[in-house]
Amino acid sequence: MNALLPWHRTQWQNLLARLRAGNLPHALLLSGPAGIGKKQFAALFVQTVLCETGLSLGKPCGRCQSCLLYAAGNHPDQRLVSPLESSKVIGVDQVREVCQYLAHTSQYGGHKAIIITPAEQMNINAANSLLKTLEEPSTGSLILLVSDRPGRLPATVLSRCQHLNFTIPDREEAVEWVRGRIGADMDPALLLSLAEGAPLRAVELAQGDVFPERARIMQELEKLVQGIESPTGIAEQFLKIGAQQTLYWMYNWVADMIRHLSCGGESRMVNRDLQEKLVKLARGVTLLGLHRYLQQLSEALRLIEGHANPQLLMENIVMDWQDAFLPVRTRI
Ligand SMILES: [Zn+2]
Repeated sequence: MNALLPWHRTQWQNLLARLRAGNLPHALLLSGPAGIGKKQFAALFVQTVLCETGLSLGKPCGRCQSCLLYAAGNHPDQRLVSPLESSKVIGVDQVREVCQYLAHTSQYGGHKAIIITPAEQMNINAANSLLKTLEEPSTGSLILLVSDRPGRLPATVLSRCQHLNFTIPDREEAVEWVRGRIGADMDPALLLSLAEGAPLRAVELAQGDVFPERARIMQELEKLVQGIESPTGIAEQFLKIGAQQTLYWMYNWVADMIRHLSCGGESRMVNRDLQEKLVKLARGVTLLGLHRYLQQLSEALRLIEGHANPQLLMENIVMDWQDAFLPVRTRI
């Protein structure tokens, strides 16, 4: 069963107290950095609200009919609204449908809950169609908006929700939590730094191909600087690995080189496992040059999704890397 994350205790007690006092707001915005478990919190809260003894227990019992239906993903009094598979956007039809659903009486006589995540992905029409329900919710409605970027939500939506903020957890607590969920050969502190302190993101980084692919991207870039491989071939490889992921790591590494050159302290680098390589690359490069290249990477990250010619864009970025980090001795 979904459990309460240790760094969510305060927010949990806050909502539980309101639920017990009978003054739970009908619309809540759960906001904060990505990868800290806001969606998990929302789901656990909905499950508690629907559970037959959730109010007294302060958590879902896991055994009542509501809990069993919820665990099977079949509870009729809750819905999750997310972008459809083929799209990144939550469309107006999805929101309209769920608003109509909220207008009907609940099947089990309690609350009816919807979670909209990531809420900032609602397009403007979808957000507008939610407004009426936010203004005049039917009895027992509970609307949870989950967002990493609440600033992208229209002010009209923001002003109709009560806000519950989540922050990056205490580092020591987070390192221990991550340590319990990854292989013994991985470094929880490094993962957490790479995830900017977000524990769920750190665990995600430890899983699947993320780390081996990160190593491959670095190897390819090394081959490029050594002149062993061409920008075209490398750009092809990177598109296969995933453009967003590749650009994200390149951005991350350049940011680390800037940290190194600005502070002179290698220990401030996030990618501690690649410290030696990054320090070596940064030799002979100016801060201004690094800042310029960081800007280009940021621009490429913004443009690559849906770009008409991703190969060309990636090739340009790879060539710029070559220009920036070609060892000084080989420059003409
Ligand atoms: Zn229950």
